[in-house]
Amino acid sequence: MTDLVLSESLAAARTRLAEALHAAGRPADAARLLAVSKTKPAAMIRQAWHLGQREFGENYVQEALDKQAELGDLDAIVWHFIGPLQSNKTREVAEHFAWVHSVDREKIARRLSDQRPEALGPLDICLQVNISDEASKSGITLDALPALAEAVQAMPRLRLRGLMAIPAPTEGPEAQRAPFARLREALENLREHFPEAPLDTLSMGMSDDLEAAVAEGATLVRLGTAIFGARTART
Ligand SMILES: *Cc1c(COP(=O)(O)O)cnc(C)c1O
Repeated sequence: MTDLVLSESLAAARTRLAEALHAAGRPADAARLLAVSKTKPAAMIRQAWHLGQREFGENYVQEALDKQAELGDLDAIVWHFIGPLQSNKTREVAEHFAWVHSVDREKIARRLSDQRPEALGPLDICLQVNISDEASKSGITLDALPALAEAVQAMPRLRLRGLMAIPAPTEGPEAQRAPFARLREALENLREHFPEAPLDTLSMGMSDDLEAAVAEGATLVRLGTAIFGARTART
């Protein structure tokens, strides 16, 4: 993808988010774009940064660390880890990311809290919910969510910010909205349980279902393909 195409696709993604917020009757700053740069080269992230994008999502630890090393000169860049996380990779994530969206086990959360360097602020956490109840998918069930939230909430080096989900693909706006509505309700319940926690984040919506997610209250939409183009490998 050339510079010109990236500037156009990023502008189009911003317009699309703005229009979705407007259609939902929400303020223009109620949701922001997370640019999902997995499998894409550091040079594209640099271009997007020059176009004003600051938050980037990565799925693979080693790939992300390589790109971060190349991009260390970029001010105010914010890295989000959004992929499945194994316990042998938690240290790198705790040391090199600002956010993790894919926490679905207490053991992983505990390691992230223990390994978060004191010199950095607390690690911002979204709990990943298996919102479509798919047997093979990652994410905690809604039933088990309150107990995990309680545990994470008490961990000193983590800051519980909200929930993330990747619903099973469905057709049509109404069907797409249903799982996002469940995630929103789950966050509302957590807010009642933990009024002191900064539970302000619904990480939901991707290139194919942004509008449905924004209609249900998404605050962070994770766009890969719509910004950087199709991925050829490791999608
Ligand atoms: C790849 C990925 C995305 C981006 O998906 P697109 O369909 O390319 O927008 C968003 N969230 C997660 C967790 C991903 O792994």
